[in-house]
Amino acid sequence: MLKRVEYPGPISELVAQLRRMPGIGPRSAERIALWMNQSRDARPGEIARAILAAAEGIQPCVRCGFFSTGPVCEICSDTSRNGMLLCVVEQATDILPLERTGVYRGLYHALGGRIAPLDHVGPEELRIDELLQRVDVEKQEEVILALGADVEGEATANYLAELLAEKGLRVTRIAQGLPAGGGLESADELTLSRALAGRR
Ligand SMILES: [Zn+2]
Repeated sequence: MLKRVEYPGPISELVAQLRRMPGIGPRSAERIALWMNQSRDARPGEIARAILAAAEGIQPCVRCGFFSTGPVCEICSDTSRNGMLLCVVEQATDILPLERTGVYRGLYHALGGRIAPLDHVGPEELRIDELLQRVDVEKQEEVILALGADVEGEATANYLAELLAEKGLRVTRIAQGLPAGGGLESADELTLSRALAGRR
């Protein structure tokens, strides 16, 4: 029986690494690996450097949790923003969809998840203490809860609303209409700007 020939080790290894990435199946992985090997336009050194820079040069902002190249992110450093408004989201990836609506000019706070007892995520696993300390120091007027519309998002919002209301803060929630269970990431800009405008 003939030995089945595969691409040489380095190409097979590249295919294997690419396949670990989300949304990349075996055919795409092979196509990309061969393109990097064969195309003049591929410039693999630039790709490798960009991957390392994005993976190692980015840290969560110490204040809001958004992606940052330094301790404090671009949003938190922007003095033209309305520091009296704070929008609480589940994940740092929820921030840009809200920014892209163009209707919100306040600050953010990413919790790093939501309260999910079945997955053993309690309040202490989230950046809730940081949130409570923040509003004490920064003295916001309004906190907008922009959490997912599913059961866990609702439960987290209820929990936070109680704690924040005890501090005398105005607590609002973005209007319903976000895809249930989908989180903010999958909501389109129009839906999000309506949800922000209709907060209550
Ligand atoms: Zn920040």
